[in-house]
Amino acid sequence: MKKSWLTIPQNSDFTLYNIPFGIFSVDLEGKHKIGTRIGDFVIDLSILQSFGVYRNVEEVIEDFDTIINADSLNLLMKIGNEKVELIRQAIIDAFIEGDKFSLNDYQEHYLHLANAVQMNLRFSIGDYTDFFSSKEHATNTGLMFRDPTNALLPNWLHIPVGYHGRSSSIVISGTDLHRPKGQILPPEGGTTPIFSTSKRLDFELEMAFAIGKPSNLGDTISTKEAEDHIFGMTIFNDWSARDIQQWEYVPLGPFLGKNFGSSLSPWVVTLAALEPFRIESPVQDPKVLPYLEFEGKRNFDINLEVWLVTKEGVETRISASNFKYLYWNMAQQLAHHTINGCNVRTGDLMASGTISGPTPDSYGSMLELSWKGTKSIPLSDGSERKFLQDEDTIVMKAWCEKDGIRVGFGEVSGKILPAKNDA
Ligand code: MN
Repeated sequence: MKKSWLTIPQNSDFTLYNIPFGIFSVDLEGKHKIGTRIGDFVIDLSILQSFGVYRNVEEVIEDFDTIINADSLNLLMKIGNEKVELIRQAIIDAFIEGDKFSLNDYQEHYLHLANAVQMNLRFSIGDYTDFFSSKEHATNTGLMFRDPTNALLPNWLHIPVGYHGRSSSIVISGTDLHRPKGQILPPEGGTTPIFSTSKRLDFELEMAFAIGKPSNLGDTISTKEAEDHIFGMTIFNDWSARDIQQWEYVPLGPFLGKNFGSSLSPWVVTLAALEPFRIESPVQDPKVLPYLEFEGKRNFDINLEVWLVTKEGVETRISASNFKYLYWNMAQQLAHHTINGCNVRTGDLMASGTISGPTPDSYGSMLELSWKGTKSIPLSDGSERKFLQDEDTIVMKAWCEKDGIRVGFGEVSGKILPAKNDA
């Protein structure tokens, strides 16, 4: 077992096996800096340079000084996973039992308490794509909104279906969002839309991956190459206004029901850290076209939870799912995304789509948990929900655990504020 000379609380997501990357500042106006997290501490990675932590890495990474002193992760993401892994290993070496750089004597220079710093959006996000890769979720929405005898659309088992979203409204965990307004059909029935605040505000439990190494226009990325282009993963809440979405989505898909806000967890966990948690993907039947075939374990065993916290602070776990349920894996998503020659750029973000499991307690949205508002979701104080109320906070957690090793993502949280009164 890898043990650190720093104190890491039991059950911490941020063990020496993790070493994620993020951007922090010591206060709201402070300079944005690259950091990692170990236990309850945020570590300033640029300061470690002066202690010699990267001395073997600096020679092999061009412009290392610029990369480690940047105010976003984009430059780091771009150098490719092999080089990122050299940096990660150098950090692990510095904090493993023994303290070979005598860092313990200089903590005040690089160590911050996690709850005393401000976490920021970690990289400049380029394009954002949202997939629809959970068979359970696609089946549930088909059952609710289309033909119950034929819930999956004919293309679903052949294509990792997705849509292009909007990156301007992607926010970091802790950012509150106002209830959106727009066109909806009257809740009491009717076919003429009204202008209203959303009455069916929802979350979607998702994970997202960020592109590190870019590709060129016209080139395709094979399922075999795909993971070389994935810098790391994060928890993603794709907030959704179901009533706006339902009125607008035919024929061109999601639009204003989605792009009023999506929340990201603050730490990017690399695929190298997730390596011990690889798992077989679900069997794909019918057989996919050759460009979507893949070898090896391409899915990951990541526990997922959704908690609803009321205005009064009452917490209820309303869903427990797992990333492993996804029918289409990230390698297939990226291969499909680029098969027509579409290029991907460093900082592009690809979300999985709602991750629902096979049982009703593992559904990844209130739409499914309340079955389109026909059932109540019980909260631990005896109250209930069908969709989100103002001042509700949604907290999503994600972590892997195996043979005593834990690697987690922390959490993504966001509160729903009342609609902005600008009329
Ligand atoms: Mn979504």
